[in-house]
Amino acid sequence: MDDAPGTPPAASMDRLAARIAACTLCPLSLSRTRTVPGEGPVPSPLLFIGEAPGKTEDETGRPFVGRAGKILTGLLACCGIRRDDVFITSIVKCRPPGNRAPKRDEIAACMPYLEAQIALLSPRVLVPMGRFATVAVFGMYGIPFSSFREVRGRRYVVREHRSGREMTIIPVYHPAVITHNPPARQDLESDFRKLAECIRSTPGSHK
Ligand code: SF4
Repeated sequence: MDDAPGTPPAASMDRLAARIAACTLCPLSLSRTRTVPGEGPVPSPLLFIGEAPGKTEDETGRPFVGRAGKILTGLLACCGIRRDDVFITSIVKCRPPGNRAPKRDEIAACMPYLEAQIALLSPRVLVPMGRFATVAVFGMYGIPFSSFREVRGRRYVVREHRSGREMTIIPVYHPAVITHNPPARQDLESDFRKLAECIRSTPGSHK
């Protein structure tokens, strides 16, 4: 997936999105309407990683534009973060049929795209949202996963595979949690408060 040395990261990200648009590496290519590679500034100090595109995302090709997206935008605003200042993507770039959870082999097939995005974005803070994204990101950096409740809101420092640069991972609840479990709002807001603290204390992660 490497471009010629000296290629601007934004140009490489566009080429990566084109590769994703043509991807048939897993069965999700058969049922998708559009691929959803992610969007935001390149490079980006903050990278938010969801589980998979939903119906609205599949129709528009844009990440987090449905109900969960509105919740995410509100949570970011509460943390003093403009949505336009962060890159948002997911661990699989195509919608699983009926919004089911992505399968292990589908995630494995798609993860090299996320890894390439991380190399291009040079983020300071990675924010996997929800259990599936957290398991996938922890797996990428060899962090043992116990239970989501135990790891959410905590910080994990890792090194980016290609550059060796230090990054902080802070898992949070997926914004969609409150659409099927309204009492989880407190936990979700608490996660984002911890995230805001983490961002404030991480050099280069905020403007
Ligand atoms: S989910 Fe990922 S690996 Fe599967 S077809 Fe879509 S882009 Fe390719």
